Amino acid sequence: MSEQTVSKNFIENIIDKDLEEGKYEKIITRFPPEPNGYLHIGHAKSILLNYGIACEYGGKFNLRFDDTNPTKEKEEFVDSIIEDVKWLGADFRGEVLFASNYFDQMYEAAIKLIKKGKAYVDDLSADEIRQYRGTLTEPGKNSPYRDRTIEENLQLFEDMKDGKFEDGSKVLRAKIDMASPNINMRDPVIYRIARMTHHNTGDKWLIYPMYDFAHPIEDAIEGVTHSLCTLEFEDHRPLYNWVVEELEYPNPPKQIEFSKLYLTNVVTGKRYIKKLVEDGVVDGWDDPRLVSLAALRRRGFTPESIKTFMELSGISKSQGSSDYAMLEYCIREDLKPKAPRYMGVLRPIKLVIDNYPEGQTEEFEIENNQDSEEMGSRKVTFSRELYIEEDDFMEEPPRKYFRLFPGNEVRLKGAYFVKCTSFEKDENGKVTVVHCTYDPETRSGSGFEGRKVKGTIHWVNAADAVKAEVRLYENLIDEEKGKLNEDGTLNFNPNSLEVLESRLEAASGNLKPGEHVQFIRNGYFVVDIKDSTENHMVFNRVVGLKSSYKPS
Ligand code: ATP
Ligand code: MG
Repeated sequence: MSEQTVSKNFIENIIDKDLEEGKYEKIITRFPPEPNGYLHIGHAKSILLNYGIACEYGGKFNLRFDDTNPTKEKEEFVDSIIEDVKWLGADFRGEVLFASNYFDQMYEAAIKLIKKGKAYVDDLSADEIRQYRGTLTEPGKNSPYRDRTIEENLQLFEDMKDGKFEDGSKVLRAKIDMASPNINMRDPVIYRIARMTHHNTGDKWLIYPMYDFAHPIEDAIEGVTHSLCTLEFEDHRPLYNWVVEELEYPNPPKQIEFSKLYLTNVVTGKRYIKKLVEDGVVDGWDDPRLVSLAALRRRGFTPESIKTFMELSGISKSQGSSDYAMLEYCIREDLKPKAPRYMGVLRPIKLVIDNYPEGQTEEFEIENNQDSEEMGSRKVTFSRELYIEEDDFMEEPPRKYFRLFPGNEVRLKGAYFVKCTSFEKDENGKVTVVHCTYDPETRSGSGFEGRKVKGTIHWVNAADAVKAEVRLYENLIDEEKGKLNEDGTLNFNPNSLEVLESRLEAASGNLKPGEHVQFIRNGYFVVDIKDSTENHMVFNRVVGLKSSYKPS
């Protein structure tokens, strides 16, 4: 993918033009998360876009917490966000920036606006401000406090800061235009009084800046050149420009909007994920069925696969939805040459080879990955008792079933041909043991050409198989019915998690948490980084082997 010459996206075109016109010397971008939740795959788009642009132009990428709103912020999110950004490989040079470190400069900026006659203290209540604001079709009207003198405004704003007024009794507003067709420009509130403890500045401040005022200042202070954000901020751009212009920043930053990443039938929004966690539908923010970055990492997605996915999804201004199958395609492509291919029996039943000498064990040398010679090979043991997949045997096979059934012969992958002779059932009618005989002449690698069989199945040696918990996942959402029920609630798939007690070939026991493996015929798996221990290994299925996505 990266070798192809891809045409530049609209953001790169804007930057090229800015550089050509000598507007900026060095490109600086930033990722500005609010520390009020865990990052999800949508944020990865923003991170990789901003970081990618900085790299492409030899510039700088900042990680800056947009922590101006003390109500919703939590310290725990800061750490998880840093970890996620690092995991994606977006290098911020270990320099973690906080918008709250600029509160002094923001306060000074507000004073500058007051002194220019561009901001005023308003005594209207929140409700009154809303009433005065007008509607999309009607202009707003001026507050009776709009024409206070500069001196009076300076004094009142200082008094706001010093705690002389109740929360909510006064605000500072930008003086722009109550008749503007853009409601964001109708004297927006830029500072409010709130007696809240901030995670970084503690109780130092009783007044806090509003997002639309704070954000452009944060960008300008850091020398950000291109402030990339999602489409919902398009209507806020005139205010962004007003702020940096009135504050007279040289080389002010430029806001550019792009469309959010959505995944079809997948819950991405921070608020939705939060609800699933709170309602106990999933087991925490890193439940592998979610698409928070912590969950994707745990599920076994790699940063490379997410990068490729973002490249395939592209950057544009028109809102679309990407297919989860494309993300699955990307992880398969990434793991294909990297993951060893072992045998693992997800739903085991015993296979007993009645004519194989009791107590004998032999070894077969099996390649680790047919696509990668350098991955070498390993030894797999074989003896009289094996495990095979439950569904590789059928008592009464349908047409075109070429695996084991009474009288039929199959190849045990990398070993011998075996022929089914009989089987045992438990009291519930469930098959528990399949009996067979093997033909020593058919040993793998012996060049045997006497006859052919149509089916090949995988197996593990019962004596040294690793007993492990295997977790299989399906979409949380019932894809047939669509994302939402008629009443707006999410439409859950009751089978989104299946837990199996599986038997895996011995080499699996050496895999470490976070390591990948392909269990042939069953898909790609990762050792769970949270629940897996040496004595009780847990594997998550990342993705099956079959793809429903075709790259164009
Ligand atoms: P959510 O919409 O899930 O609640 P958010 O927008 O509240 O997320 P922020 O912490 O404010 O989360 O987002 C940080 C940055 O990530 C912002 O620049 C935002 O525009 C961007 N971002 C958020 N969601 C997406 C998405 N789905 N696709 C691309 N960028 C996104
Ligand atoms: Mg947001």
